[in-house]
Amino acid sequence: MSQTKWRSERLSLLGSSIFAEVAAWKLEAAASGLDMIDLGIGSPDQPPTPAVRQALSAAALRTDMYAYPATRSGLPFRQQAAEWMKHRFGAQLDPAKEIVTLLGSQDGLAHLAMALCDPGDTALLPNPGYPIYAASLALAGVECVLMPLREENGFMPDLDAIPDEDWDRATFILLNYPNNPISAVADLAFFERLLDKARRHGVLVVHDLAYSEMGFDGCEPPSILQIPGAAEQAVEFHSLSKSFNMAGCRIGFLAGNEKVVGALRELKANIDYGVFDPVQEAGIAALQEAMSNSELTKAGKLYERRRDVFVEALRAEGWQVAAPKATMFVWAPLPAMLWSLDRPWDSRLISQEMLKATGVVVVPGEAFGSEGEGYVRIALVESEERLKEAARRIGSFIRGNK
Ligand SMILES: *Cc1c(COP(=O)(O)O)cnc(C)c1O
Repeated sequence: MSQTKWRSERLSLLGSSIFAEVAAWKLEAAASGLDMIDLGIGSPDQPPTPAVRQALSAAALRTDMYAYPATRSGLPFRQQAAEWMKHRFGAQLDPAKEIVTLLGSQDGLAHLAMALCDPGDTALLPNPGYPIYAASLALAGVECVLMPLREENGFMPDLDAIPDEDWDRATFILLNYPNNPISAVADLAFFERLLDKARRHGVLVVHDLAYSEMGFDGCEPPSILQIPGAAEQAVEFHSLSKSFNMAGCRIGFLAGNEKVVGALRELKANIDYGVFDPVQEAGIAALQEAMSNSELTKAGKLYERRRDVFVEALRAEGWQVAAPKATMFVWAPLPAMLWSLDRPWDSRLISQEMLKATGVVVVPGEAFGSEGEGYVRIALVESEERLKEAARRIGSFIRGNK
């Protein structure tokens, strides 16, 4: 009798195993009683504003909020999203046709290739890249052409270095600026060149703007949809998770090209029945508040102060890292280690040994793709005091005083 494995081959195509490894290292460290400072996770440590929590609880107390969300129109949230897109970026979108609400942008990113492509199609992805990008292509049987993001190009893809035949066979190109894990920022001129190139080759541009409200030093990350006519060739993912501290609520949206939005909506109509209505109400409150008092709601301010404290402390310890202009991540080239093991240092080994020695959790750059080797990603998701403490411990680890 054949043994049933109850596990599809497909599952092994999902993402890098390094995240599971990091989780195992953390369990070990916790079991050994180490005081851990977890700068590995990309989840905000702050709550949403009182107005958002009030909207959520008021809606949750109503009796008419418990049907499948899809039985209502869901239009109010999309209308608010459209208004916010206009207010923030000057982008004009039809909430009925050019916006689809998502259970977090992860939901849309995971399903987009399945909604747009057939097995054997091709898409262009960044390397390093946020793990769901490659996973979603793998699930849909879509071939992936990787674009290296390297420091010598300011961590932007070299659009002209991608062979014409790859452009011609690609269904879409996916990028995200401000970038996770690299934290690089793109300007509108780059998006214009990207759109131009994509138009000439008939390629859809998919932009993931999860960190739109998390720019530093006055930087306001642009939307590709603020370029006139962009919605003919592009869609953009928006998330309330990072910018509004609503990661656990699971709400975001895709905006832009009507056909693409429609395809994703059609697929999702068969898979889920929409975002819990009280969460949509909370999302409306968050966007409304951002429009009336952007200073109050800008999550960027908090991370900007943490960045200043942490980058300065790390440099004082002898680790020269660049200060990010946005997001909540420091993308740090491996430090010069003043001690050696019997193997050469790589991003995985440094992360593992650093956690064992100091309790500070970071993610090996390699977890985001081969081009991430040589870096670690450090998330600014603890208080300034804890970040200083982390830098102090890291410094002594680098110097070999364990
Ligand atoms: C966190 C993150 C997401 C997922 O956000 P959700 O809206 O919570 O699903 C998508 N893209 C990037 C780059 C992220 O960092």
